[in-house]
Amino acid sequence: FTVLGIETSCDDTGVAVVRSDGVILGEALASQYKIHEQWGGVVPGLARDAHASVIDSMVEEALKKAGMASVAEVGAVGVTVGPGLEICLRVGTETAKALATTFHKPFVAVHHLEAHCLMARFGQPLDSREPKEEAAGTSASSPIPPQTRFPFLALLVSGGHCMLLECWGVGRYRTLGGTLDDALGEAYDKAARLLKIGTGAAGGPAMERLAREGNPKAVVLPVPMRGKKNLNFSYAGLKNAFRMAVTRLKEALNLGEEEDFDPKTKADLAASFQHVAIQHLEERLTLAMKESERRGVHTLAVVGGVASNQAIRARLQVLCEKRSLARRLEKEQERIWDEANSENKGGGTMEVEAPLPPWELVVPPPRLCTDNGVMVAWAAIEKLRLGYSDVVEGRDVHARWPFASWQNST
Ligand code: ATP
Ligand code: FE
Repeated sequence: FTVLGIETSCDDTGVAVVRSDGVILGEALASQYKIHEQWGGVVPGLARDAHASVIDSMVEEALKKAGMASVAEVGAVGVTVGPGLEICLRVGTETAKALATTFHKPFVAVHHLEAHCLMARFGQPLDSREPKEEAAGTSASSPIPPQTRFPFLALLVSGGHCMLLECWGVGRYRTLGGTLDDALGEAYDKAARLLKIGTGAAGGPAMERLAREGNPKAVVLPVPMRGKKNLNFSYAGLKNAFRMAVTRLKEALNLGEEEDFDPKTKADLAASFQHVAIQHLEERLTLAMKESERRGVHTLAVVGGVASNQAIRARLQVLCEKRSLARRLEKEQERIWDEANSENKGGGTMEVEAPLPPWELVVPPPRLCTDNGVMVAWAAIEKLRLGYSDVVEGRDVHARWPFASWQNST
């Protein structure tokens, strides 16, 4: 079956037609970056108007790319109903409700964060009985990877969130930690503004590009929550320390408030910020991985807009390898210890525990990490496979929608 997915929770109007075996048949995305750029942040009223003016043409474009004449040809309609900007969510939701009603299609309400998380599983279902014919836009050189299995540990890093979740199934998530203040994407965006290299959500990618040219050890910044044993994040302290470092450096170089750094210094600042930001992720993740592996989890998924960052991907790949090695050594030590003990006690055969496979890192393709219609269609596919769909009547949007209360309502 196929699903039409619609996303309008923030400043991207995303629509896609996705087939249940993980093939993207048609995709359309309108970014409002140019509209909000001059204001330095997303202006809700302008965002709603922009969604409203392009939503119909985005639906049309996605269907056209999929070779479909109308919504009559899709199997179901999915839409993000929260969390996000209420008046923006309403544009997508009303459109989806009207289409589902007109064409008598099942309607699936999607949680934005769940859609980000389930992108870790975007791919060919292992139990797929769908026909495997070549679809538009796919080729033999890009085979669809198999779906990641539950359970997995998800690091959700986006513009509004920074969370650690253990994902046990569709609709079954256990929150291990969240941010005490700022989200990582937000911190990236603010750091980029300070360096005057990008506004809004363009800040993150600009910081990543600039950081490649710099020395990550040039400016010493404090790693947040060092030594704390919980699984929460905090990026407000790093943001402030970065602002102070920028001010101090300007003073030291005798630069005025409006004057800019030379390219090398600027790159060093970006690289130093990114280095410490990732170090914080690594430290929290090491604790979380130790905890989750006791429950048999050995897959780490990084999802949300910031997951498109290649430096994060590379460092977390190394982290997975390190943790796998450390765990093997710990197990070996335990075994030696147990053996010695049982010898002292004079015997009995030891029970041999099956070793866990090494940690595997899963990151969706960069363009599917930031908001898009594909993730909404895919989340709807996952829910439909389990038999969930919603009634259109009375389905409202939720500007604030914590994972916990949503799980109870599914
Ligand atoms: P949420 O999903 O929490 O509701 P959102 O939908 O607005 O927030 P996303 O679209 O998921 O956020 O992600 C956007 C964020 O990702 C922005 O803060 C942006 O700076 C950040 N981001 C995107 N690409 C990169 C990158 N390469 N490096 C760092 N940050 C990035
Ligand atoms: Fe998002």
